[in-house]
Amino acid sequence: MSHDQSDTHTEGEPTRLPTDTDDGLLVIFSGPSGVGKTTITRGVERRVPDAVFSVSATTRAKTDADVDGVDYRFIDDAEFDAMIAEDDFLEWADVFGKRYGTPRPWVDEQLRRGRVVILEIDVEGAKQVKSRRPEATAIFILPPSSEELLERLRSRKREDEAAIQRRYAEAQREIADARACGAYDHFLINEDLEAAIDEAVDTVTRARETRQARSRGPVGQ
Ligand code: 5GP
Repeated sequence: MSHDQSDTHTEGEPTRLPTDTDDGLLVIFSGPSGVGKTTITRGVERRVPDAVFSVSATTRAKTDADVDGVDYRFIDDAEFDAMIAEDDFLEWADVFGKRYGTPRPWVDEQLRRGRVVILEIDVEGAKQVKSRRPEATAIFILPPSSEELLERLRSRKREDEAAIQRRYAEAQREIADARACGAYDHFLINEDLEAAIDEAVDTVTRARETRQARSRGPVGQ
């Protein structure tokens, strides 16, 4: 690894810090809506040292529950198009008719700093990231059963029954796709929230240790 001082910032080039380690870990979390994905992801962010959450850009409308810049960066279609043209997305996908994308320059900067970068993205996005960054660890969160998922979607009381049934059908399709596509390294069943967070933290911690051991190289060299 080089910490060459001549590697200074110029237009379009990333800034390197002497403390950069280049051994960051990219972690993908996916799962159907209603599965507890956001709670698990934010739990991992809190408990894993040096973990940071990647704030996606989206063209979907901001709701009262969203904080701009914390949950998402809310942008319009023109800005999203411009980011695609600039190759500013590590991945992007159309989800329920709106576009969502992961900001590539920010993610790469965090990885250079040696951080654990958490992406909460859909299956299409996970496939793109794994094909570009095969070293990423991808975790898919499953409900304990189909019945339980339907129950959870209903208990959120956010939508009418028709919308709940649409989400449920979409969730079934997403789970089948996740199992078939080969992008996921781990499937984690969220039966009990605290236990699921523990398991996710363990999985990420193990992947992190493997990543750091690899970047240090064989002992004695
Ligand atoms: P919501 O609008 O309910 O917050 O998210 C809808 C879906 O979009 C979720 O499955 C979420 O994981 C996914 N999503 C959020 N950000 C991104 C992103 O940057 N890329 C992709 N591919 N999916 C995303």
